[in-house]
Amino acid sequence: ASLSEVVNGYLSVISRKNQEINAFTSVHADEAAERAEVIGKKIKEGTAGPLAGTVIGIKEVLCQKGYPATCASRMLENYEAVYDATVVRRLMEQDAVIVGRLNMDEFAMGSSTENTIHGPAKNPHNANKVTGGSSGGSAAAVAADMCSATLGTDTGGSIRQPASYCGVVGLKPSYGRVSRYGLIAYASSFDSIGPLTHNVSDAATILKAIAGHDPSDATSSSRPVPDYPALLENPEPAIKIGIPDEYFGDGLDPVIRERVMDTARNMEKKGAELVSISLPHLKYAIATYYILATAEASSNLARFDGIRYGHRADIQEVRKELKNEEEAIRQSLGTNGNGKSGREKLDKALLAMDSPMIRLYKKSRTEGFGTEVKRRIMLGTYVLSAGYYDAYYGKAQRIRRLIKQDFQDVFSKVDVIISPTAPTTAFDLGSKVNDPLQMYLNDIYTISANLAGICGINVPAGLHSDDGLPIGVQFMADAFDEPGLLNAARIAE
Ligand code: GLN
Repeated sequence: ASLSEVVNGYLSVISRKNQEINAFTSVHADEAAERAEVIGKKIKEGTAGPLAGTVIGIKEVLCQKGYPATCASRMLENYEAVYDATVVRRLMEQDAVIVGRLNMDEFAMGSSTENTIHGPAKNPHNANKVTGGSSGGSAAAVAADMCSATLGTDTGGSIRQPASYCGVVGLKPSYGRVSRYGLIAYASSFDSIGPLTHNVSDAATILKAIAGHDPSDATSSSRPVPDYPALLENPEPAIKIGIPDEYFGDGLDPVIRERVMDTARNMEKKGAELVSISLPHLKYAIATYYILATAEASSNLARFDGIRYGHRADIQEVRKELKNEEEAIRQSLGTNGNGKSGREKLDKALLAMDSPMIRLYKKSRTEGFGTEVKRRIMLGTYVLSAGYYDAYYGKAQRIRRLIKQDFQDVFSKVDVIISPTAPTTAFDLGSKVNDPLQMYLNDIYTISANLAGICGINVPAGLHSDDGLPIGVQFMADAFDEPGLLNAARIAE
């Protein structure tokens, strides 16, 4: 089929399925069709780039010039990106066709793609189940075959967990492997961008396209980018696979446990060696993450104040509110105060009122942010505040160091770690939205990779015998050992 036919094929799947799945928040059918023609010609002439033929969707937290970058937030409801993220630019330069923007949890905070102004995304395997999150739109779009690949972001599991719930491959690269320029930041020392695909080899191809140093992101590494797809042509099955006790404890569905162990045993038959390992500080991972990530989020999200960026409350309403408040104060204390002490009381009360500008900030942020985002800003502000900083933020940083050390010790003995990606299969829509702690616990197996800056991948491992939903196996490898990670994933696939 010609590229135009391929693109039209995907577009028609989108128009058939997206109403229900709600993965895409906007589709650029005309531009995609135009690009397909141009690139189709290049293919015929033999001048097309390495991603010609790849049809891609982009998570709405990544900037693409001229298209909405709402981050699924009312705060950015009307925001259109004014430049391309480096990853988007690289995809285009290598002749990928981008078809649209994808649903997510607001500012990438969540594990279910229910915290979104676009309405929840639905799991293509069962529309009563969540897709996982926060890159739920990215996972569902691939699972429903609406495109060949997508980009998602992973701060604590947001690529791997939805990939697991939707039954696709999801790769979180090492911190610094892929430029974050043009990614609207959630927690800058954790954020990473990676592909969600139908198979491991596609993930390798897209990683190669987007990885590498970028002068616009000082934390992007200048290590050379290996030819990941070429390395996969000769997989090496004789590897050492670490099985961490701590990843198989309470709360893990026994069917998932067995499936992960089956995967490990199959790899053993192909030549791998299984090694029992321990990550003693893992038990602190969730607490550590939710202190450090919220701290960074509270700082990153300070820019959305309705003045520089984002939703601005109605100034007339603000003035009216303040006038009414002043009125109420004067009514209770007397229009001009009663006597000298009354006068002082009144002045004090009036002085304590917000200025119109401060009230405008408050109202804009109150209206613009959803509940979960507000919760995180408050948590983050709290752990950073004077008097609490050492007890929470400082201590969490020290524990992050210990978790990193745990992984370093382990990777001196094994090539990769195998574990479940999530403790359960996709849960019911609505079942955890009002229980943040339950939602956070879902990230237990993915979060540590972000704390340590290492890479991880979800590989689908068949369907669950009870609910028929996808099960995912996770591999993790040392920082910048994407070749080793992809090799293990390819063998398990
Ligand atoms: N679920 C985690 C959170 O809510 C991770 C999110 C992410 O990776 N962006 O923070």
